[in-house]
Amino acid sequence: MSSMDFENRKAMIEPNDALDIILASAHRLAPVTVELAKIDGYVLAEDIVAGHDVPPFDNSAMDGYAVLTADITGAGEANPVTLKLIEEQPAGKATDMKVIPGTAIKIMTGAPIPAGADVVVPIEKTSLSGGRVDILVALPLRNNVRSAGEDMPKGSVAVTAGTTVTPVIIGLLASLGYATARVRPKPKTAVIGTGNELIPVEEPLTPGKIRDSNSYTLTAQARACGADVTRLGVAGDTKEDVARLVGLALDSADVVVTSGGVSVGDYDFVKDVLAEMGAELQFWGVKQKPGKPLAFWVLGEKLVFGLPGNPVASVLCFEEYVRPALLKMMGRGHLLRPVITAELTHDFKKKPGRQHFVGVRVTATDRHYQATVNGRQGSGILKSLDGADGIAVIPKDVIEMKVGERVEVQMIGLPEDH
Ligand code: AMP
Ligand code: MG
Repeated sequence: MSSMDFENRKAMIEPNDALDIILASAHRLAPVTVELAKIDGYVLAEDIVAGHDVPPFDNSAMDGYAVLTADITGAGEANPVTLKLIEEQPAGKATDMKVIPGTAIKIMTGAPIPAGADVVVPIEKTSLSGGRVDILVALPLRNNVRSAGEDMPKGSVAVTAGTTVTPVIIGLLASLGYATARVRPKPKTAVIGTGNELIPVEEPLTPGKIRDSNSYTLTAQARACGADVTRLGVAGDTKEDVARLVGLALDSADVVVTSGGVSVGDYDFVKDVLAEMGAELQFWGVKQKPGKPLAFWVLGEKLVFGLPGNPVASVLCFEEYVRPALLKMMGRGHLLRPVITAELTHDFKKKPGRQHFVGVRVTATDRHYQATVNGRQGSGILKSLDGADGIAVIPKDVIEMKVGERVEVQMIGLPEDH
């Protein structure tokens, strides 16, 4: 296809439509069982229901004495109430002894409240001599008593399906006796670079060559989503080599991400290879800058993203299109970054016809956010995204924005919220 064909393609679509097509093709992966020690970061595929109370029994919040509230009414430093010590109650053990009027059981934090007792007096508010304890304070009913089920009552939904497992949720699961839980698997994601000009990072530069950076960047981006990612390396610009790596990727991956070779150059073979493998092209060409040559295929349940090779386009297309798809597959409910409105700190000019994604630094004043384009822009200038807090979205038909005008900014450093 010549570059004229590409420009004239009726199939060029808008960024929002591209995202819709991708998300309609991305499906939640079937649940798997994962053990507790390895479950952080996964998304729960089932509600977690409390099979018993947590804590399972009334217990003491303090080291002290379990007594009867009625016995210590009016107690104070000046007029202690003296009780008979009848037992010691360490954590981890239950007692048969009952607290009756005039008696106390010594109790440690976390130990079950003995029968009869309805309050715990902290040890600091007591004085022990022989087999008797002086209580130096009056306390209300159930003071320093932690009630059974006050954390999670039996039968309640402790954590809902769709929640990402955090360290705290692991603690809840452990308290409830879940040694494993049903979660969505991490999408297996393969990353492939393409280009004869690319050499691996370990090798010295030679004339005409550049270092492959995209395969490393994309791998890290996929890992940051929580995907199970493999960097397959770089294919040379031959159909055979591209077919070899893409074939390898499709053997095991749910999602294949290629970079480069989707434009209209003489050596751009990714589209031909995918077509020959029977992948169904969903779109090729998005009215955006950077990232116009973005292509997307579906092959059975598998998704294939053909990202443009320019490093900025590659990063942006991953952020805008691949990341939401991976999040959806792994069961997340929120797929898109928070969007804020910010005022530009300077004028901005662009050509009409394509939506622009621009890396910006965002600062907050007392009343509003301000956005500043993050250094020199260009699809090959990867530094333009280094230190960018957000991506400003400049609509397709805008040609000029003045200082103080408002732009929408996707906050790429913040977790998805919608
Ligand atoms: P392509 O999309 O293959 O035409 O590549 C567009 C531009 O991106 C060219 O300047 C390539 O050298 C560059 N490029 C492609 N792949 C990579 C990569 N993996 N790392 C860094 N630059 C790349
Ligand atoms: Mg290339």
